[in-house]
Order: sequence, then structure tokens, then C-alpha cells
Amino acid sequence: MKALICYNQNEFKLEEIDRPEIQKDEMLIEMIYTSLCGSDIIKILDPEVKKPAVFGHEVVGRVVKVGKNITRFNLGDVVVAAHHIPCYRCHYCLHGNHSMCRHFKETNIYPGSFCQYIRLSKEHIRYTTFKIPPDSNLLEALFVEPLACCIRAVDRVTFRKDDIFSVVGTGVIGMLFIQLIKLSGGRVVAIELDNDRLSMARFLGADCTINPSNQNIAREIKNITDIGVDIAYSP
Ligand SMILES: [Zn+2]
Ligand SMILES: [Zn+2]
Repeated sequence: MKALICYNQNEFKLEEIDRPEIQKDEMLIEMIYTSLCGSDIIKILDPEVKKPAVFGHEVVGRVVKVGKNITRFNLGDVVVAAHHIPCYRCHYCLHGNHSMCRHFKETNIYPGSFCQYIRLSKEHIRYTTFKIPPDSNLLEALFVEPLACCIRAVDRVTFRKDDIFSVVGTGVIGMLFIQLIKLSGGRVVAIELDNDRLSMARFLGADCTINPSNQNIAREIKNITDIGVDIAYSP
């Protein structure tokens, strides 16, 4: 199968590698769509991250091989899958901080989504793989994993209707936050250096936008509220 191998931050090659084999509790997924996450870029740039490697973890794919113990999925199902799995038992997991869990950090899809086929382990199938209804927009389905991170962050804070959130940085994750906060009844101040992104933030519902390159953040926020924002996200 073809895979995009990263040798270093300036060198990527499309190469042939072996298609992953699967065991009886695993599945093989043919990639339909994948996208580039900010964390992939960090791994590509970080000299400490082992290379050569296949990166990528945002997955929309089709089930093309099913281990004989798998009952929840069938050939041809279109699925999304997340890459890390918490252990649900450690100190961090028991305190709700699953992304701090060691097992979470160590688990991954194989070899990475920037290739034609990936293998999903028993744990991935059990905890992080979901069928997508047949009439779904599969490009939108790519947002399931990043959106899940944002939903989790909004679920973890207590707030009342009309409370004010600031979203500092309105890249993809910031834009998802703006929409979620509006859907949850909050008000949003979007803070961002790029004016095009700020117009998109307004389009998606931001109540106020601030560009710190020519506006004073504290002063602008004081125009709306005396006590500052209630919740700040810096995605
Ligand atoms: Zn990601
Ligand atoms: Zn854990």
C-alpha cells in the first residue's frame, strides 16, 4: 500500500509499505479521508519524535477486513476512529483527565492515517470506533475527533446562559469552540491576529472579535463586561 513517510520536517516520500495484517480481534480500514491536525505538525517539527514515521490520526474509512471475533462491524461499514485510548483505571483517568493517562499517550492507530490502510486494535474497536450513517457527509465526519475534544472541554466547565467565553486563537479548533459555545447558550469573544479568521469567527456567531495587533484586549473586554470573561479557552 502507499504511505506518506516523514523522514524529517523537510522530507516526505510517498512509498510502498506492507499492508497491516490483522488478528481475530482487529479490523483493517481503507482510508477515505484524513486531515492534518495541529498535533501532527508539532510531531513533524519536534526532533525528539522518532522518524521515519507515518503520521495522521483523523480517520474516515471503510471496513475492508474484519477479524473473526468482531461482531459490531461489518465489511463495507464507514467508520470514524480516534487514535488514543485511556486505560480508565489510573489516577488521571479516575479524575477525568484521560488525556494525561500514560496508556492514552502510548496507544495509536497503525501505522497512521496518512496511508491507504490502517489497522484498528481490539481496544480501538471497543472504545473509539463509530459507524457513520450511510447518507452522512464524509468530509464533515472528519470533524468527529477534533469536535469531540471541544465538546469535552465545554462539558467540563459549569456556566450559565449568557456567560462570556473568550476563545484565543480561531483556527479550526477555535472555530469549533465558537459554534459549540453559541449552541450551549454562551457569549463569545474571539481573539485572533488574522482578520480573515475574525470575519469567519463573526460569521460563525462570535459576539465580539478582538485583533490584538491593533486593539487592547483588556480594554475591549471591559467594554462588554466589568468582571472579565467567565471562561477562557486557548485552543
Ligand atoms: Zn488531532
Ligand atoms: Zn488511565
